[in-house]
Amino acid sequence: MNNSLLQAENLSVFYQTANGSLPAVRDLQFSIEKGETLAIVGESGSGKTATALAVIGLLPENGRVNGSIRFLGNELVGKTEKDWDKIRGQEISMVFQDPMSALNPVLTVGRQLEEVIYLRKERRVTKAAVRDECKTLLKQVGVTEPLLRLKQYPHQLSGGIRQRVMIAIALASKPQLLIADEPTTALDSTIKKQILELLADLKKKMNLSILLITHDLAETVMLADKVMVMYAGKVVEFGQAKDILENPHHPYTQALLNASPRMDDSRKKRLSALAGHLPNALQLPTGCPFHPRCVFAKDLCKKTEPSFTLIDEHEHKLSCWLTSEDKRKLMQFTTCRETVNKLSGAEVKKCAGEAHQPILEVCNLEKYFQIGSFLSRKQLKAVDGVNFTVEQGQITAIVGESGCGKSTLWQTTVGIYKPTAGTVKFLGKTLSTKKDYQFFHQHVGFVFQSPYSSLNRRMSVGESISEPLQVAGWKINEAKKRVMELLDLVGIPLEMYNAFPHQMSGGQRQRVAIARALAVNPKLVILDEPVSSLDVSIQAQIINLLIELREDLQLSMLFISHDLPLVKYIADKVVVMYCGKVVEAASCEEVFQNPKHPYTKTLIDAATPSSSREGQVAGEIP
Ligand code: SF4
Repeated sequence: MNNSLLQAENLSVFYQTANGSLPAVRDLQFSIEKGETLAIVGESGSGKTATALAVIGLLPENGRVNGSIRFLGNELVGKTEKDWDKIRGQEISMVFQDPMSALNPVLTVGRQLEEVIYLRKERRVTKAAVRDECKTLLKQVGVTEPLLRLKQYPHQLSGGIRQRVMIAIALASKPQLLIADEPTTALDSTIKKQILELLADLKKKMNLSILLITHDLAETVMLADKVMVMYAGKVVEFGQAKDILENPHHPYTQALLNASPRMDDSRKKRLSALAGHLPNALQLPTGCPFHPRCVFAKDLCKKTEPSFTLIDEHEHKLSCWLTSEDKRKLMQFTTCRETVNKLSGAEVKKCAGEAHQPILEVCNLEKYFQIGSFLSRKQLKAVDGVNFTVEQGQITAIVGESGCGKSTLWQTTVGIYKPTAGTVKFLGKTLSTKKDYQFFHQHVGFVFQSPYSSLNRRMSVGESISEPLQVAGWKINEAKKRVMELLDLVGIPLEMYNAFPHQMSGGQRQRVAIARALAVNPKLVILDEPVSSLDVSIQAQIINLLIELREDLQLSMLFISHDLPLVKYIADKVVVMYCGKVVEAASCEEVFQNPKHPYTKTLIDAATPSSSREGQVAGEIP
């Protein structure tokens, strides 16, 4: 008799579209035991979320499930909405990626928690008992001041607390299976670690089973027992989390692991960017669907799709045609990072320590806001006496958790906010008049976090990039020529000149945003979390592009990020902020090899993937 809590057999998910039936998930087999965590990993569009939605019965109307999903022995495929009411949010709960959009903005936290408890329809539930249970649930997920939080609305909470509230709501129905869909993607590294640890604790205490959906393979180390890597709707590798992370066999799993910089990685070479993108599910290539992107593809791979076979006695399964000899080479590829780097490109040059002309000098910059009503007015010191410089051809990174003042700092630096005190010098000249700022803005480019919202959706690629040129007075012909040069520089095919943002991938949109920022040959580019909304494989392409541009054009960059491995990889100088102040500033090597401030040490520990709890920072930024 099978004791699995959840068991999927021959599971396929199709979406009916105007162009035909789109296979999002194909022939999946997996099971989750009681108290076990299964992580599903892959790029956006690989079928992870479609699998989770099929398990919880939340597929959109055009979605169709084939095969079988059994939960505690009961078949879930074909259940009616009435049947689902007894399972969804009761036996199986879900935590979504963005708690701000998942929580109801017009209901207090208390109301949203109470709703789930009342839906359990237990007899003799008093109002006081429900309040007590809400308090206990918030305490259980590590929310401080639960009575205050119960009265607050989602917008009054920080990102970390909102995600804890989401988890409390999911647990209120006492589920047996929790589906966590990218639960930490929008969070800082310290908060991310706290949430993963919280889930690991809950799993242990409540014997909870978790289905974790993530695109970050390294993140699974803290929580997952088993990992399933998906590509183009199919599982390409499956095994114990430790085996997959330490000894991945499939080239795609390899590529995912090598695409993002890691804290424990001292390499100075280009990232191993995964070329191309996921195939269109309506036009899958013949043979192995990964072959157009695989460096090991051979003729057989192009003709026949490999079967999914067991490769050792630890349930490690693989779908790949590599022979033992190929695998021997692949193992070298796995363990020898130098080989990866040779395949991926040139050395990343850092220039800290050399004398460079300062481009931007910020001295004792302050930005205070008056908050509260007339009678209870308070001063919020968002930026409090900050000093830093950006030198010619160098990258200065500002790091810290959300709410530490990073964004207010750059916005005050460029004049979006009027500084309360302090000076900003650009090319040796203090910015004070409107004319000074106009000159400054003509020589600064900006790249924002979400390329989709920063590009005008009604403007084509050509129009978006040429807009700053036209503002700067370029003639139409010259501007068009420059746009072509820029498209070539950032690796966008010239045929995409007339394409619109919705017709491009996330990586292409961010390349267009970078081309627009470079249009008028800026001396300084300010990048605010430029890769945090992108998949790991696309992140690697954009990071490599930024490094190339820095080297080829001697560009100076102010890089705002909470991603410490990325900062360690890309920056020359690091400025660490906490509560509006700089707590540590030095060259990148110094900060990461010999951090002096406890907060810097904590940030570094939190960003180092490990299952240990050392260096965990408690709470949130005050
Ligand atoms: Fe690469 Fe071939 Fe293996 Fe597919 S089957 S991952 S193309 S080696």
